[in-house]
Amino acid sequence: MTENGSDRLYLGVDVGGTKVQASVVRESGEILSRKRRKTPRNEQPDRELHAIEAAIERAVAAARSTLKAIHAIGIAIPGVVDPREGHIVVTPNMNLTGVPIGNHLRGRFGVPVAVGNDCNLGALGECWLGAARDAKSVFAILLGTGIGGGFVRKGKLWRGAREAAAEIGHIVMQIGGPPCGCGNRGCLEALASRTAIERDIRRAIDAGRSSVVTDLTQGDLTVIRSRVLRKSLKAGDDVVTEVMRRAAEVLGHACLTVRHLIDPEVILLGGGVIEACADFVVPIVREIVDADRLPGAREGGAVAVSALGDDAVVLGAVALARAASGKSPADLPAGQDRQ
Ligand SMILES: [Zn+2]
Repeated sequence: MTENGSDRLYLGVDVGGTKVQASVVRESGEILSRKRRKTPRNEQPDRELHAIEAAIERAVAAARSTLKAIHAIGIAIPGVVDPREGHIVVTPNMNLTGVPIGNHLRGRFGVPVAVGNDCNLGALGECWLGAARDAKSVFAILLGTGIGGGFVRKGKLWRGAREAAAEIGHIVMQIGGPPCGCGNRGCLEALASRTAIERDIRRAIDAGRSSVVTDLTQGDLTVIRSRVLRKSLKAGDDVVTEVMRRAAEVLGHACLTVRHLIDPEVILLGGGVIEACADFVVPIVREIVDADRLPGAREGGAVAVSALGDDAVVLGAVALARAASGKSPADLPAGQDRQ
């Protein structure tokens, strides 16, 4: 290992509601290993921390490296975090609320740890090495079990006065609409996330409609994964097509709101549902955005699709760790000096 920087290794960790992904990554962004662990469901925080530690250890072993060779760790959390303290303020879908994860992992592995919101870091990753590489302002919307966002301007994350900016999943799209995990009603997340899509498909089936989803899930409708949605769309299933069309329309209108509020150069769509079903969802979103009657002074505001898939968040976590360990100004991904 040389100290000229180019050989430095970082660890990026994406803590998701269903899986923890850890990767060892070179300074350049080259990924040397990818390891996944299932996130324990409804467990105590120590079990969840254990899964994160195990994913880190496996990623290091798979890269044929050692923890001593790791310069810094970046960790992405699905919730509100305080990056200055490395502290988790709230994780709605996990039991890590209040956990000082930065300190914990620093104590456990003996390297600097930077903590950020997963969707914020997904946006940062796409700006560093993905679909938004050359854009000066990017608003990312990530659709999975929930809906998160990230706003990156001139290579820097816009985190907000309360560390809670870009929470696009919780803009209200239907006043008095269905309840959302956040406690409010009618949020984008309550109408267009995979959780909302699953709910609406289950309702249709409960009401007596037939759908290939019943066969594809062997009758267990508790979780309907994105790949099941993709297969159902491909099969021309009426229920899934209807529910997904509605979700895509709501998403399209949310993109219009983003355009009118921030007017970013790129609106980037990503996350599990988009990865699986982009062919169906993205044209509907583009149609709605393209039909916008309120013009700008010039072209721009394109709707793009994530190029990094699952790696976006991990690479964003590495960009954050790299910045936090003093390699570049705060929040500025590698090689993106745009001051
Ligand atoms: Zn909400």
